[in-house]
Amino acid sequence: MRSLILSDIHGNLEALEAVLEQAQRESCDHIIVLGDLIGYGANPNEVVDRIFDLKPDLLIRGNHDKVAAGVEEPIHFNPSAANAALWTYNTLTPANRQRVANLPKGPRTLHSKIEICHGTPYDEDVYIFDEQDASEALDSASKQLCFFGHTHLPGIFSRESKSGSITVFVPKTNTSEPQAKILNPLASHLINPGSIGQPRDGDPRAAYAIFDHVTNEVIFIRVAYPVKSTQEKIRTAGLPDSLARRLAQGR
Ligand code: ZN
Repeated sequence: MRSLILSDIHGNLEALEAVLEQAQRESCDHIIVLGDLIGYGANPNEVVDRIFDLKPDLLIRGNHDKVAAGVEEPIHFNPSAANAALWTYNTLTPANRQRVANLPKGPRTLHSKIEICHGTPYDEDVYIFDEQDASEALDSASKQLCFFGHTHLPGIFSRESKSGSITVFVPKTNTSEPQAKILNPLASHLINPGSIGQPRDGDPRAAYAIFDHVTNEVIFIRVAYPVKSTQEKIRTAGLPDSLARRLAQGR
C-alpha cells in the first residue's frame, strides 16, 4: 500500500500537473493533501478544481487557504503574501471560495498509525523548523507518523522512543534520484514532503513524497515543470514580482 503525499501547491498549476503526471506512474492507493492549495500563484481556481477532482482520501486546509477564502484576516502575512491572498480571494469563484472555506482543519487521521496536519498537530499555523519545534510537535502527535507541510522544506524529524533523541533527515537537492528513507519502527516521525508550488530548499523543482506502508519507506521525489510560464502568469495577473522571481531559485 502506498500513499501519495501532496502539500503547499499555492495556486501553481504547472507544478501540480507535472507532479500528477509523474505520480500516475507510481501506483498509489491513497492521496493525502496537507493544505495551502492556494495563495501566491496565478491559478487558484484550476488548482482547487484539480485537487477536488482527485477525491483525496484526506484533505486539510492551510493558513493561506483560510486567508484567501476569507475565513481569517492576513494578520501574520508579509505584504506580498497578503497582497496575493487578497488577489486570490477576488479571483476565486464563489463556489471555490466556499469549498476552500469549508476545508477541515488538521490534524486528521488516516488510520491507526498516521495523522496529518498543516503546521503542527497542536496548531495549524506553527512552523516546524528545528529539533526543538519537532519535539513540541511530537509531544502533541497522537500517531506514530505525522505528515506536515507549511515550511516548504522536505525532511523527516524522528524521535527514538528509548533515548528520546531527535534525528533529522534532509533529502539531497538538485539530484535526479528519488531520495528514500526507511523509517525506524521504534521511533515516531514528522514527515514533510516539501512544497509543490513554491519550494524553499534551493531546488526549484516541485516536491512531493510517497509513503510505502509495507516497506515503511518515505520516498522524496522532485519533478521539473515549466517555471517560466508560471512566472509569466504571475506577472500578467499583477501579483508581486517577488513571487515570480523566487520560483526560479526555489527560495
Ligand atoms: Zn504554504
